[in-house]
Amino acid sequence: MALDPVESALEEAKSVFAAKRPKTREMHARAAEVMPGGNTRTVLFTAPFPLRVERAEGASVTDIDGNIYLDLLGEYSAGIYGHSHPRILEAARAALDNGLNFGAHHEGEVKLAEVVTERFNLDMVRFTNSGTEANMMALAAARCFTGRSKIMPMEGGYHGGTLYFSHGASPVNAPFDCVMGQYNDVETTRALIAQHADDLAAVILEPMLGGGGGISASRAFLDMLRAETKARGIVLIFDEVMTSRLHPGGLSAKLGIEPDLKTLGKYVGGGMSFGAFGGQREIMALFDPTSPNALPHAGTFNNNTLTMRVGHVAMTEIFTPEACVDLNARGDRLREKLNDLFMRYQVKMKAAGQGSMIVIHPTAADITAPKDVEHTDKRLRQLLFLDLLEQGIYVAERGFMALSLKVTDADCDRLVSAVEDYITKRRELLV
Ligand code: PLP
Repeated sequence: MALDPVESALEEAKSVFAAKRPKTREMHARAAEVMPGGNTRTVLFTAPFPLRVERAEGASVTDIDGNIYLDLLGEYSAGIYGHSHPRILEAARAALDNGLNFGAHHEGEVKLAEVVTERFNLDMVRFTNSGTEANMMALAAARCFTGRSKIMPMEGGYHGGTLYFSHGASPVNAPFDCVMGQYNDVETTRALIAQHADDLAAVILEPMLGGGGGISASRAFLDMLRAETKARGIVLIFDEVMTSRLHPGGLSAKLGIEPDLKTLGKYVGGGMSFGAFGGQREIMALFDPTSPNALPHAGTFNNNTLTMRVGHVAMTEIFTPEACVDLNARGDRLREKLNDLFMRYQVKMKAAGQGSMIVIHPTAADITAPKDVEHTDKRLRQLLFLDLLEQGIYVAERGFMALSLKVTDADCDRLVSAVEDYITKRRELLV
């Protein structure tokens, strides 16, 4: 049976990809002998076999076959500084020279905690090794604080490998008892909160869905959540692991809405493993080891010297409030240019997101909730991904981009022109 046009375009693009990457193919086969599917981080797997990078510098990455790409993925938002930033390397070397991981308190964690609490308006903070852990701890804290057991994530939300709520809950999720909220559906979600109020410990969401497609929460939705949770003694948690980069004080500061707890991750550790949860003093005080019945919060590397020292330099010297504003303005300009392009060619494509986080979707419809992108053609996402690689540009297969500080306006124009080439080449599939 003949393949449909999208399928055959995709098969051809995969062949082109494979033909140019013999070493990558070989390494993938080797990897598959010792890791299931040759993979240890699911999101990085792409067909026919994933890219394998050898080195990176600034805004460019080079694969093991010697192909060079403009990196617009920005390590799914963690790589905000670009690769091998000299000041980051210097801070990392200084940390190494001073001794790795003392098994003791040190000044580094105090300095980073001072910066993070001030910048993101938290009474108190604790560090973890990942955003997933930060969210797990924030949810656990909310359950202990309220003495209630249920949590409300949003359908289509992502808060880490064990807190993934797209297409129904992931089978590897932590076994929380969940009441699923509906992102941007004010009345349905309000009713669910009211119905479960006595058992509900926390409502958790991103103020803009990052991995979930660059979909912004409406003002009305966030206002409702803030009012309902406050009135009913439910802890409101904003996962700002990604969105904190959208404004010097995080997206909650831009919106002027204060949740009870916030979680952070990604870039805040300067590119090292990082996570943090913090907020209201009364909740965070549960972890104070000097109080009777204090909640334990373990983690061998929670205060590792590398993350603490590099994160401090990165947040104070590199991702300054001014740099943050500039970067997000660049992203806004890029999104606008992409959407102008899609309008001009009248193709079914849309660039969603805010500031430096951009997601290209294969639809022309309004995007206000996860359901608006859930049933779009995944093959068109794969095709754009492979066609952009062919033009030397690296984005996420799902169309996600997070600009680093090393991405210039000229780089953005290069993307626009590559997307225009994609549209002209694939037009019949996109209208
Ligand atoms: N929360 C959000 C919004 C994320 O995007 C991610 C990672 O992509 C996480 C949490 C999990 O962070 P980590 O991968 O560091 O565990």
